[in-house]
Amino acid sequence: MLNCEPDDSAVITTTLGCQLAELPLTYLGIPLTLRRPTRAQMMPLVNKTAAKLPTWKSRLMDRSGRLVLVKSVLAAIPLHQILVLQPPKCILKLLEKIQRGFLWDGRAEANGGHCHVNWRAVCRPLSLGGLGVQDMERAGLALRMRWLCQIAPELYACIPKRHRKATSIRDGLTDHSWARDIHGVLGLQELGQYLMLWTEVEATVLTDQPDQLVWRWNANGVYTAKSCYRSTFQGSRACPAWKLLWKTWALPRVKFFHWLANKDRCWTAERLRRRGLQHHPRCLLCDQEPESMHHLTLACPFSRQVWYDTLSWLRLPCRPPDNELTLHEWWITARQHTPKPMRKGLATATLLVPWLIWKHRNSCVFDGEQPSTQRVNDRIKAEAALWARAGALGLRAVLPVDWDVH
Ligand SMILES: [Zn+2]
Repeated sequence: MLNCEPDDSAVITTTLGCQLAELPLTYLGIPLTLRRPTRAQMMPLVNKTAAKLPTWKSRLMDRSGRLVLVKSVLAAIPLHQILVLQPPKCILKLLEKIQRGFLWDGRAEANGGHCHVNWRAVCRPLSLGGLGVQDMERAGLALRMRWLCQIAPELYACIPKRHRKATSIRDGLTDHSWARDIHGVLGLQELGQYLMLWTEVEATVLTDQPDQLVWRWNANGVYTAKSCYRSTFQGSRACPAWKLLWKTWALPRVKFFHWLANKDRCWTAERLRRRGLQHHPRCLLCDQEPESMHHLTLACPFSRQVWYDTLSWLRLPCRPPDNELTLHEWWITARQHTPKPMRKGLATATLLVPWLIWKHRNSCVFDGEQPSTQRVNDRIKAEAALWARAGALGLRAVLPVDWDVH
């Protein structure tokens, strides 16, 4: 009980039949303290999150499966606490380490070699080229922003309580009287917030309308944690290929492969060469040019033959890739030359074909298989039929009518 005389507290505990406990304590799973929680107080959260990692089962999941677990379990557990508490940075780092290790290597810790993409890039929204995993620090900030005092929390604490509610915006703006309400010793953080607030307030123009709170990051002016989270990425560059990647019907692992390929993080001969590792001097499929992801998916004569065969088989009227710089660029052009009912099928085929070319390339590199467009085409047909049966309606619409999927 806060600010309570011992006699009063004795009466209350007897009446309610409850016990007294000293701060700090844990209530509903959240550590209650008078100050910011310490590392030791937040460690149970880290241990609890680590305990949720599946042990042997993680080895049976591919990365796209582990991504689902990271998003829905590992990133969700801490939300309850970071909604009310601002954890120390080291705790956020430990939580991220667990998520990162599990996604890339299926265990709590992974070294740099296992992590193909920087974690900050993974934590960006899908439309900005990330995997949509929640960034713990930004998510916490967005959730705690619901309390207005979070705009300048340390400075707000320097204003006496009696002034906080009694002062209106107009009173506070008149002759900068809000600045005179600040009392006590200002530290570096408070001074920084003071200067930031001064600049913001200077630009404020009052009208005759009554005061109202407007959240500028949402169309209807109402705060939501989602809009606040999005606003922390304001000014970031969008990823043009995100719709093709994430809005198209395809297996999650195929989308994950394309996401990595888009970031040039697949171990092609070109990438191995850049890292000074052993590699084949020329593409194994055509034996003509050095092997890069662009060459493998778009420029290789072998791949172009596969593209031609698949597009003809699916009766898609667009032409195969030619001189396009990216797969997305080709898809945009091809889409314009495809009738509307066939466009979803085209998008799914755009993801399916490069994936199976990559798998065939892997069989040639690691299992000594001979390149064969016939085998890739057969594999594409079998896989397309499976996808159509599994729910790829767009692909089903473009498959030949005599196929047993309709
Ligand atoms: Zn080639």
